[in-house]
Amino acid sequence: MLFRKSEKGPVLTLHNTLSGNDEVFLPLKPPTVLMYSCGPTVYDHVHIGNLRSYVFSDILKRSLKLHGYKVKHTINLTDFGHLTDDADSGEDKMTVALKRLGKPFTLDSMKEVAAIYTESFKSDMETLNILPPTTYAAASEYIVKEIALVRTLVEKGYTYETSDGIYFDIQKFPQYGKLGNIDVQKLKDGARVEVNKEKHHPADFAVWKKSPLGWESPWGTGFPGWHIECTAMVFATLGKQIDIHTGGIDHIHTHHNGEIAQAEAATKKPYVKYWMHNAFITIDATKVSKSLGNGIRLTQLKDRGYHPLVYRYWLLTGHYRSPMNFTFEALDGAKQAWFRLRKHIYEEWKSAKGGVPSESYWKQFTEAISNDLDTPKALAVVWNVVGDKTLTPKDKIATLRKMDSVLGLGLSEDPDTVMRSLGVVEVEDLPEEVKLLMGERDSARKAKDWEQADRVRQQINLAGYLVEDTPDGPRVTKA
Ligand code: AMP
Ligand code: ZN
Repeated sequence: MLFRKSEKGPVLTLHNTLSGNDEVFLPLKPPTVLMYSCGPTVYDHVHIGNLRSYVFSDILKRSLKLHGYKVKHTINLTDFGHLTDDADSGEDKMTVALKRLGKPFTLDSMKEVAAIYTESFKSDMETLNILPPTTYAAASEYIVKEIALVRTLVEKGYTYETSDGIYFDIQKFPQYGKLGNIDVQKLKDGARVEVNKEKHHPADFAVWKKSPLGWESPWGTGFPGWHIECTAMVFATLGKQIDIHTGGIDHIHTHHNGEIAQAEAATKKPYVKYWMHNAFITIDATKVSKSLGNGIRLTQLKDRGYHPLVYRYWLLTGHYRSPMNFTFEALDGAKQAWFRLRKHIYEEWKSAKGGVPSESYWKQFTEAISNDLDTPKALAVVWNVVGDKTLTPKDKIATLRKMDSVLGLGLSEDPDTVMRSLGVVEVEDLPEEVKLLMGERDSARKAKDWEQADRVRQQINLAGYLVEDTPDGPRVTKA
């Protein structure tokens, strides 16, 4: 039977990469949902593309909560073992970072580097209003479990040894490639000249890599393969069978098929019930400044005058399975929309106590979000609420606050608190253009031309600043 707290709400359907269809969500052991999200390789700062993956899993988690579920969620941190080529060739990415930073090749310096980028990742997650997972699992802290999983696979006869590692023999697991319908024969026929001639099949993957830098194991010093890390951390933090596993689409073919093969070979049970993948953010290189390159970071958006939640808003204007092309023009549109939304809330906030959320808008909203997380449609409902003249301000605010429990756009916080979090800017530190606008707004207000004052305020908003009037004069904050 479908578990739902409120029998009135819509059924939650999610797109499952495993079947290629939208399916009604039925967890293994309601009311708990076990969910794992592939985390970043902490050899560098994450870019805004990576962050889509976590805004998506955040919306998913908030939607599951909306449906009355308790979510146990793990995000891993890959602090070794992810090679520059996902399919087991190239260099370990952490080693690349050690070289780039001029650090010695030791586990201690690897840990140091991982700590820097882990902190940076967690800070981006927080500023994007992403709810923290139950567990952040660093691969290096689960080494004993990872070795144990490799040992199980070795003992069950799924592996073979080469001069550089222990490999999973995909021909011993006939269902290999079921995620995303990989044609394994085609993989073999179409393989470029195999880099590692000792492999039995081009899709075989390392479960243990021999290396002078690493940990002791029955197969010599080295480190576990990237897929092993995730599976071992799923087992250790959530269990042998879980409800949802998320990641970007680039992980489907190699990483997630590898995880399924190892897990199901080890346990003989279905590993994950729903596999969910977000599409990619591409960046229109011609429209991005060369100095930023393609790997734009969230902090770089902040430096350019965009509040992080503007980026979150922009992401929600696209469905998580649709590719989105990032441009600053598109972000400007999101900025304007987010500011308008916030401004509306700001103006209504003071009279907002004791409102009751609108049932009909709430129904439309939950229907949209329950339909494979249709955030563009959910945002359209938000705007319909804003524009509805029949709702009282307090009911509007109550409705928007309730919707924000899923959207996480900072709409349910006191506007003053949000303003303060943006950082107050002294007028003399403002750019000339904004100083002039402040002067214009002041004149318009003195002439009691409120419409003009408001128009100028919008222009100030678009330049990346918010202005509010306090008993001590106008206060300006940077977005
Ligand atoms: P990685 O550190 O490469 O494992 O990436 C962390 C997460 O970000 C994974 O789930 C990737 O699939 C995802 N990802 C990487 N690049 C992008 C992108 N441009 N757009 C969306 N997701 C991405
Ligand atoms: Zn993973």
